Amino acid sequence: MFERIDYYAGDPILGLMDKFLADPNPNKVNLGIGIYYDASGKMPVLDCVKIAEQRIAESTAPRPYLPMAGLPGHRQACQELLFGKNAQAVQENRVATIATIGGSGALKVGAEFIHQWFPQSKCYVSDPTWGNHIAIFAGSDIEVGTYPYYDSASNSVKFDEMVSFFSTLNRNDVVLLHPCCHNPTGMDLTQAQWDTVLEVIQKHELIPFMDIAYQGFGEDIDSDAYAIRKAVDMGLPVFVSNSFSKNLSLYGERVGGLSIVCPTPDEAVRVFGQLNFLVRSIYSSPPSHGGYVVDIVMNDEALHQQWMGEVYGMRDRIKAMRLALKSVLEAKLPERNFDYITRQNGMFSFTGLTPEQVARLQSEFGIYMISNSRMCVAGLNASNIDYVANAMVEVLKV
Ligand code: PMP
Repeated sequence: MFERIDYYAGDPILGLMDKFLADPNPNKVNLGIGIYYDASGKMPVLDCVKIAEQRIAESTAPRPYLPMAGLPGHRQACQELLFGKNAQAVQENRVATIATIGGSGALKVGAEFIHQWFPQSKCYVSDPTWGNHIAIFAGSDIEVGTYPYYDSASNSVKFDEMVSFFSTLNRNDVVLLHPCCHNPTGMDLTQAQWDTVLEVIQKHELIPFMDIAYQGFGEDIDSDAYAIRKAVDMGLPVFVSNSFSKNLSLYGERVGGLSIVCPTPDEAVRVFGQLNFLVRSIYSSPPSHGGYVVDIVMNDEALHQQWMGEVYGMRDRIKAMRLALKSVLEAKLPERNFDYITRQNGMFSFTGLTPEQVARLQSEFGIYMISNSRMCVAGLNASNIDYVANAMVEVLKV
């Protein structure tokens, strides 16, 4: 009966994690999956989260189903982080926000919404992008294409090509954008470049879908949301998916949000209703624990401040690792240019290693990164950085 069902080859990133766990090499280093590890190589539990969880544990309140859209405090937290405190569009009730099952859940509900209400729209993702973007949108029966983004030869954004490509798209086509900390390349647009891209989007009446999974890991909470806030100021109908997986280190709790900024409050009511209906028909309502943590941490002034400090601590550690890696590589391979390592933002660096070099790192040194050369810089620490840098030198030298 089920013989005709295809085998699933597995997710390349999650599969790499399994391979890493099974590797007996005592020196192995996991730079594959997009998880922040602290200076001792452990996934942190943020102090602000510990306090919130203590409060939740002490309350021993019943755990009813949450509303389809999640907790109001969770939704408000998404809006304040993304659009800023007292943002005009929010005050004018033009933003429909639901709490979602991680950033992935937000992308999925957003994709279903587009499929249902904008059936002619195609979705364009950056070349390259996080692989699941393609799977999620294609899985909602949306035709997915790519737009030019990264030039491996010069380790920079193909900005002119990107802009010209956008101007060839049709009205209501969706362009999936990474407002900060581009995954997988780490290479972001400047604010001036965002201004130009958003003008083209406005002129050609495209729908910007901004996927922000690393807010706070680039420059700071506000600067990282520049593209989102600018698009809203320009009056664009913006979709935003956000994730708290990384910036609250709450990966397994699956917390995120989907916001759609509408031209009028009436449209926001309609959109919010349809988002609720989609949630009801897919998973009914989100899980509550992570939602309570988000609500408590983000809406308690003192905890919020503490959280910002902890996020910036993670950001700064990653930046320090970038500098350290770059300086070893430059010292050992002076003929090569490694400036790109510190020009990139967030957890990832596109190292430009060939698939063969990536494979050698894995088989000879037990160093795991994605075959497209993406390294998770947050997996580096004082104990493994020299090992990794020297191994990179080994595979890079000819
Ligand atoms: N978007 C991007 C760009 C991501 O990198 C990720 C996580 N890897 C997500 C969305 C999904 O976030 P979550 O893990 O919260 O589902």
